[in-house]
Amino acid sequence: MTITDAREHLDDAARDWLDNVHGTGSGPTFEVLDPGTGRILAELSAATESDVNHAVEAARAAFEDGRWSERDADHREEVLLRLAQLVERDFELLVTIEALDTGKPRAEAWYDIKEVIGVLRYYAGWCTKATGTTIPAPRQYFAVTLRGPVGVCAAITPWNYPLPILMYKLAPALAFGNSFIAKPSELAPLSALHFVRLCAEAGVPDDVVTVLTGAGSTGAALAAHPGLDKIAFTGSTRTGRAIAHAAAERPTRVSLELGGKSPNIVFASADLEAAADGVALGIWTNAGQVCVAGSRLLVERSIHDRFVDLLAERTDAMVLGHSLDPEAQIGPMISAAQRTNAENVVASALDDGAVAVTGGRALAGPGFFLEPTMLTGLATDHPVSQEEIFGPVLVVDTFDTEREAVAKGNATAYGLAAGVWTGRAGQGQRMARGLSSGTVWINAYGVFHPTLPFGGTKASGYGRELGESAVEAYTEITTVVEDLSAGEGDDHD
Ligand code: ADP
Repeated sequence: MTITDAREHLDDAARDWLDNVHGTGSGPTFEVLDPGTGRILAELSAATESDVNHAVEAARAAFEDGRWSERDADHREEVLLRLAQLVERDFELLVTIEALDTGKPRAEAWYDIKEVIGVLRYYAGWCTKATGTTIPAPRQYFAVTLRGPVGVCAAITPWNYPLPILMYKLAPALAFGNSFIAKPSELAPLSALHFVRLCAEAGVPDDVVTVLTGAGSTGAALAAHPGLDKIAFTGSTRTGRAIAHAAAERPTRVSLELGGKSPNIVFASADLEAAADGVALGIWTNAGQVCVAGSRLLVERSIHDRFVDLLAERTDAMVLGHSLDPEAQIGPMISAAQRTNAENVVASALDDGAVAVTGGRALAGPGFFLEPTMLTGLATDHPVSQEEIFGPVLVVDTFDTEREAVAKGNATAYGLAAGVWTGRAGQGQRMARGLSSGTVWINAYGVFHPTLPFGGTKASGYGRELGESAVEAYTEITTVVEDLSAGEGDDHD
């Protein structure tokens, strides 16, 4: 099914929504494109430095006057649950907006918005569960910790999972009483603009959640603002470094979830059909534009040819298509620039002797499509085996022993995720101990859940989101110590 103008395929609600969406800044406008056609979906105004200043001041004032930060925890719980209900009410619209804006098939966006609901409900539960402690300091003292909000938190987020990644930050921030400023990616900001409307409808007070539209310069102005208590960033390693630098000028907490070059490691003992399904899912989901993409396949040498064939069968059968095409299994890349970059990477690999077992070419016609491309014959230390491509490109390498699998698994600058496929008891757990990786999936890949802490090691960043980790990330503790001996000896009968 060829779609050249997505608007013709939208229902009235989605078309009206797009006709009435605006940016939140006073600066020049920028275009938001449908990656499946290259056509303009919306034109939004960008937030300037003065808009950023205003947003931070307003968020600070909201925090200080206690309109949210001092509300009872069960009130915040109720509001978060209402927000989850409103996302459910507008589910179809949000799925459509997210799919159109990112280019991913609607079926993938469906899971993303489900995940948003799950994360909101999970942190709604935490509102009343995060507690301080009593501490066995010397008996003379009564010592406790109080747990409160951090203050004004900001999030700078990418375009690949716009609303879920925002929610990993926003839901716990709101749960514990913080004010929150979001700067979504200029390439896919639309779902955040709908969500902020839902916040107001759910009863989040004014200026407690603000969305700033704009590109890198808006993000840079936000990251450099002295009035923030915390910045959570998800995106490229290069931008993460710039943000950490800006924040280092003052005591702003930073958490960074950056890139990856994650290995999917397949042992000969594995259920190879299941492993091939898992490896395909791990790299072709969202056209490989996933921080945890399993973009390096490490396969035990004895099964290399057989496994590559299994994967090639699955890959060749996949249907590329527009986000609104119900048959589509792989969407386009996010932009022309991103696709050109991936094409150049593939060309350099082929020049250096790699073989494209599948794909290798951009599709002619509208949209930024690149065929899913599996490359064999590259050395482990080749730049294409080392650097994050953020596209549908998989590099295949081999190993002979468990020890070598660990060494090659760790042989990049990154440490975000890894998959291990094995039929031998204990082998996955041994691998998990050896791999330097924020997450290790065993006989599975890409499993996310609100309960599971997520984040990276090495160049993949620091800090953990989701699960109980976010309680630490979005609260501050105050240690309170009282001397009990002061009144000792007083007569109290
Ligand atoms: P990606 O390759 O995922 O687009 P980026 O790191 O460029 O990764 O973008 C992620 C987010 O960071 C986006 O919201 C983008 O606008 C923002 N951003 C880009 N450059 C900067 C910067 N110098 N300072 C702060 N934010 C930035």
